[in-house]
Amino acid sequence: MIDTHCHLAHPDLIKNIDQIIQDAKKQMDAIITSIAPGDKEKSFEIYEKYKGFVYVSLGIHPIDVKEMTDKEIDQYKDFVLSHKNDIVAIGEIGLDYHWIKDKKTNERTKRVFIEFLDIAKQLNLPVILHLRKAAQEGFDIITNNDIKKAVFHCYAGNLTLAKEIIEQGYYISVSTNLMGSKNTKKIAKKFPLENLLTETDAPFLSPFSGKPNVPQNVKFILEKMGELRQQPIEEIDKIIVNNAKKIFKI
Ligand SMILES: [Zn+2]
Repeated sequence: MIDTHCHLAHPDLIKNIDQIIQDAKKQMDAIITSIAPGDKEKSFEIYEKYKGFVYVSLGIHPIDVKEMTDKEIDQYKDFVLSHKNDIVAIGEIGLDYHWIKDKKTNERTKRVFIEFLDIAKQLNLPVILHLRKAAQEGFDIITNNDIKKAVFHCYAGNLTLAKEIIEQGYYISVSTNLMGSKNTKKIAKKFPLENLLTETDAPFLSPFSGKPNVPQNVKFILEKMGELRQQPIEEIDKIIVNNAKKIFKI
């Protein structure tokens, strides 16, 4: 099992991090945690401690962009470049029209998104995309910017676009919100496994209300996928883990 996107340094997880990871290690192949500017030190501590099991991706969420000055963003870019040998992806990066409605802020977010796509190209790394209410625009931006390796995290767009995504050879990451979304269910049921990944976005999107999500909840995604596809869970998992190994080179 693999969780290709979560936030291990989030306060809801870090307080029990050793216990969570020890338990995850018994069941899982790997975890990729996404680092944001605000938790980079804590994330790297976890990464150093659990090297070979925990992998890291460095990005800047559109909401972080809103909170940071241009100078801070430039410094963060230098930080990303200086860790090029530690990271397996650039992300999460993208656009968020749910939380950011102001046009000027969105233009700036888009500019920073493209700058981070450039870093990914420069380092030859895949990107993990956060595109809330912006899937089509994000797709157009990455194809126009010649991005070859991309993961659509928590994809919530329509099925027509989902088909274009996989035709381009990109990946759609199926998250624990599979239980609640019609489109995600259809993707998990019908789309080629070779284009799918699994993720929890922990501590968010918990399948259990009142409890933070954890990486090992990937098992619930696989169970549901097994049921939808009428296929053994082990078979599904093997392909997904291989996809992740291929794209993230882990
Ligand atoms: Zn996330």
